[in-house]
Amino acid sequence: VARMEAKNESIGALLSFNTEQALADAANADLSKPLGGIPIVLKDNINALGQPCTCGSRFLESGYTAPYDATVTRKLREAGAILLGRANMDEFAMGSATENSALGKTVNPHDPSRIPGGSSGGSAAVVASEMALASLGSDTGGSIRQPAAFCGIVGMKPSYGRVSRYGLVAFASSLDQIGPLTHTVEDAATLLQIISGHDPLDSTSLDEPVPDFSESLGKSVKGLRIGLPKQYFAEGLDPEIEKLVRAAAARLEEQGAELVDIDLPLTDAAVATYYILAPAEASSNLSRFDGIRYGRRSENATDIIDTYRKSREEGFGPEVKRRILLGTYVLSSGYYDAYYTRAQKVRTLIQQEFASAFAQVDAILTPTTPSPPRKIGVADEDPLQDYLADVYTISANLAGLPAISLPCGEMDSGDGTRLPVGVQIMAPHLRDDLVLQIASAIE
Ligand code: GLN
Repeated sequence: VARMEAKNESIGALLSFNTEQALADAANADLSKPLGGIPIVLKDNINALGQPCTCGSRFLESGYTAPYDATVTRKLREAGAILLGRANMDEFAMGSATENSALGKTVNPHDPSRIPGGSSGGSAAVVASEMALASLGSDTGGSIRQPAAFCGIVGMKPSYGRVSRYGLVAFASSLDQIGPLTHTVEDAATLLQIISGHDPLDSTSLDEPVPDFSESLGKSVKGLRIGLPKQYFAEGLDPEIEKLVRAAAARLEEQGAELVDIDLPLTDAAVATYYILAPAEASSNLSRFDGIRYGRRSENATDIIDTYRKSREEGFGPEVKRRILLGTYVLSSGYYDAYYTRAQKVRTLIQQEFASAFAQVDAILTPTTPSPPRKIGVADEDPLQDYLADVYTISANLAGLPAISLPCGEMDSGDGTRLPVGVQIMAPHLRDDLVLQIASAIE
């Protein structure tokens, strides 16, 4: 606890500490349980009874304490985990740098002048700087995998429906999944095992058996066909990243896997499709923040409409407002068919494109990001640059696929620091086991 509090002064990974409760839980820890005594941090959009859940927003900064446990929180507690505190994040998980947090700044532990990634930047930095052994984040378009890549750790987005979203504050419900950020693939498998499974409290949770993920670790990749999509190794990819990712692929080849060049032409459409659908869902989900039910209520309002208006004006930051405006626009009558319906159709085509790719190959290997973590503060004027950098992670969410990012080396930042690079593995829906198997063969 002392080390965590001291380190957090420079890293800024945590928004609040759960110290008193954590020490009491540690004193009574049952070490025979799978996570007995293991310190874990939750992203600040996952409810844990009695703890804050700010979502990095002024809206929930005060006046909201979680009245219940998310299903993942309950499962972690039952497995014996000690919940240490709450990780910083982009406001309502909208962003790729954690700079959209209204409540604090998080830096990259490898180079404090750079972003930790986002939106689960606090969850990644807390593990990379060894304040906690592992954390949970949420991934709607890359928010677990991209910060994991930027901070040099493992981050996994499970198959859609594998992990209950009950108690996760919704951003874009058809894309959101909770997943682990850890030091090793084995730790990711352990955490995924604990948080997976059907939950009647989440209607999109799947009633499918959960395999024993530990059996995938160290299992031979001989004979597996691994697809390298040419659109992910194209213009815009940093050459240093390409070299390290191809070296990771070569490690699979040495172990008997076959590398196959594949074509995913709709990759180009993924960012545009996502930035219609995710804001559309967000504009609907965030309508619950009305100044009446949760958190902030404007003190300057005169009537009920004014309460909605002023509470939202004061409570939401600029990126959240931009997304609500975008989402409301694409859902409005007259534009719905032109934007929302068409984006849904493209989403289906992207799903079908992956389905035909998986008729040719068992899994897909790509870089996690096209470039290394940028400097803090440079993208404020141009959110589009960050949107475009999501190009390699978004498709897995649109298609519901399991995907992991793990470290595959380090590159020179150009100013004296070394920056971690991530490689991503994607597999067919519900083949989280295969993702873990291939990741453990690279590690
Ligand atoms: N960077 C993407 C966005 O801003 C993805 C965020 C996420 O996965 N929560 O929406």
